[in-house]
Amino acid sequence: MSGYQQQLEERKGSSLFRKRKIRSCDTQWQLDFSTNDYLGLSQHSGIKRAFKQAVDIWGVGSTGSPLLSGYSGIHQELEELLADWLGKPRALLFNSGFAANHGVLTTLLDKQQRLFADKLVHASIIDGMQHGEARFKRYPHNQPLPIVSKAIAGDWLVTEGVFSMDGDACDLNQLACLKQEHMIKIMLDDAHGIGAYGTEGKGSLTHASSVADVVTGTFGKALGVGGAFVCAGDDEVESLIQFCRDYIYSTAMPPAQAAAIKASVEIVRSSEGDERRGRLNERIQYFRDELKQRDLKTIDSGSAIQTWLFDSDEDALNMATQLQTHGYLCSVIRPPTVPWGSSRIRFSLTSEMPLSELSTFWDTVDRVRSRL
Ligand code: PMP
Repeated sequence: MSGYQQQLEERKGSSLFRKRKIRSCDTQWQLDFSTNDYLGLSQHSGIKRAFKQAVDIWGVGSTGSPLLSGYSGIHQELEELLADWLGKPRALLFNSGFAANHGVLTTLLDKQQRLFADKLVHASIIDGMQHGEARFKRYPHNQPLPIVSKAIAGDWLVTEGVFSMDGDACDLNQLACLKQEHMIKIMLDDAHGIGAYGTEGKGSLTHASSVADVVTGTFGKALGVGGAFVCAGDDEVESLIQFCRDYIYSTAMPPAQAAAIKASVEIVRSSEGDERRGRLNERIQYFRDELKQRDLKTIDSGSAIQTWLFDSDEDALNMATQLQTHGYLCSVIRPPTVPWGSSRIRFSLTSEMPLSELSTFWDTVDRVRSRL
């Protein structure tokens, strides 16, 4: 038996075996807490229309990598829109947030540099650090001091605006001080912040445009589409175009996808975006209050990502299974995705969840808890 088969056998015999859920157009969940569609834009009629119209104009595929035939006018328009929105000199499109993070970390850093990373950064950042040349060191979650106080000019720090598993935010003021004091460069992955919070939906960049030298984000969450971007200075973006293997050797996203993202960004920046963010925030406050009232173990989070922690994997799995049988789709997150002993049900909230449904959900939780 080869290594992967052995690993598979072990996984099959453990409670960590993962199964994909098949989503169908007509499955009606009472509430879907597993989605990243924070503003409900994946079903927005204007964005769907932009997608369809662009298919009629451009076809369904980009036909090549961006340095060959894959870069079209609509890609360029979207990049310009992103740079303007997020207040950076330039933007570059990637097929996924995973590729964007990996690409930046394996292209812009070299052997001379050190890289400091939060303990809870996403797998794409971990892979990027491991495959890149810089020597890296991780610091305890949201506590860059004292490790980063050893940084010297030219070192980098990478973190997330909103953490994907805990839902809490990084301390941007502290990062600003560290940057000023040690002349380090900062890379911020705002996958879960962009679109969902802040002025014009600028996410963590509402307050951190000048703190972050390089910003990455995905269009697959609040923007409702898919694909990703890097926003940075001219030299950083030009270096990615020239040297980033994830960018150069990969078919560009379809132009119609770029058109849909462009429509989505325009909505996110508009008063409609403000209204959706307002509704999302109302739901976040409501959900937090309900967790608190019941004294459930949680991680304090002001974002759409809310957690309910359990002492064992089994308890988390049992509760999630019960909730699913009542029509609530929620994800159990277990090690190795989160640290051992912190298995949890992760709830993603969206602006479009009816408050009455959320209230019924909590009644159901109470009933299930009293039975278990
Ligand atoms: N960064 C973070 C923090 C994420 O949570 C994710 C998605 N899970 C990504 C990057 C990757 O983005 P994408 O899904 O576009 O590859």
